[in-house]
Amino acid sequence: MQTPNCLKLDKAEDAREWHTKAIEFLDRSNIPAIPVCYHMAYMYVSQRNQKLTHIIDTQLKTSDSLDSHFLLHLFESQCMDNTESDRLDEHLADLHGLLYKVLEGVTNSCDHTEHFNETLLQQTRALDANPSLKDLQGIANTLLEATTEAMQSNRLMRDHLQSAEQHSLTLQSEVKKLRDEISIDALTGLFNRRALNKRMQELVEEQSDAETPFSILMLDIDHFKQFNDNFGHMIGDEVIRRVGLIMKDAVGGEAFPARFGGEEFTVLLPTTDIDNALTVAESIHQSIGNMVLVKRSTKEKLPSISVSVGAASFHHGDSFETLLERADQALYQAKEEGRNRIVSETINANM
Ligand code: GH3
Ligand code: MG
Ligand code: MG
Repeated sequence: MQTPNCLKLDKAEDAREWHTKAIEFLDRSNIPAIPVCYHMAYMYVSQRNQKLTHIIDTQLKTSDSLDSHFLLHLFESQCMDNTESDRLDEHLADLHGLLYKVLEGVTNSCDHTEHFNETLLQQTRALDANPSLKDLQGIANTLLEATTEAMQSNRLMRDHLQSAEQHSLTLQSEVKKLRDEISIDALTGLFNRRALNKRMQELVEEQSDAETPFSILMLDIDHFKQFNDNFGHMIGDEVIRRVGLIMKDAVGGEAFPARFGGEEFTVLLPTTDIDNALTVAESIHQSIGNMVLVKRSTKEKLPSISVSVGAASFHHGDSFETLLERADQALYQAKEEGRNRIVSETINANM
């Protein structure tokens, strides 16, 4: 396996400089130097990952809300996935190796069986050739030896297969667990950004030769920073989780609800045109608005939550990015028009 970037050593004087800069960077945004945030800050100030630098620079330019959550999500989407993929690749390589071993075992056993058959054939021929008593003793000994050998080889093969089967079951469940970890958001149980990107890419590719419609919703909780500030991040997390559950319940089996990051969500709606997508958006929007939140410790009723939603549907010539961009613009417009509403895409005349 290749050495991961994070294990490649920096020169001591560079590391010292980046350490100081990373701490200053975190201090500027009032972010505690907990390991994940420190890691992202160090990666940023040492400029070792262009994509990461670009995402953080854009966030700094467009919003003043660079905080620990942002860095944590960035870590999960940009750094964790690679680690998980590496682990998955290792398991798949293990499984591959195991199958080779089983095949080798079966081939060996077949070689033994072939040898046994040959011995049987030779000894049958010897029996046919009017053997003397001495010859008969020799034939009996040869057959006894060959049978013992074949039995031993079969027993070994059985043990080999049994342990391979056990090993394979363990590996399969590990692979399944890792696949889930890779595609599921831990807080909400919805699909994560990585799975969303993959599914969306597939849907866009399928659209090039199909005429079926396909739509997307982008949702963002309104004034969530304020909610967090008033009631704390733990309750904020619970709200995100509940919004996720509502989304899961509100959409059909074919839909693909995902957490885009932070307090933003996406639903991919295959075989759904924009009108039907707006009906789904309406139902999610209403259920979230009706959600009753009670603080468990004090039974205090918390203010209701609203979301803004942007909707767009696939048009000929769309790429993954252009479609997402239109849904995002519609969401932005919903925010601009006062939040707590659904806005449908604007189509350029030249599309
Ligand atoms: P707007 O209506 O414009 O969307 O305002 P907003 O306050 O919701 O948007 P903003 O982007 O300013 O703030 C989003 C906040 O969401 C900031 C961040 O602290 C919070 N947040 C992001 N991820 C999480 C999370 O996983 N848990 C909690 N509790 N808060 C989060
Ligand atoms: Mg947001
Ligand atoms: Mg928001």
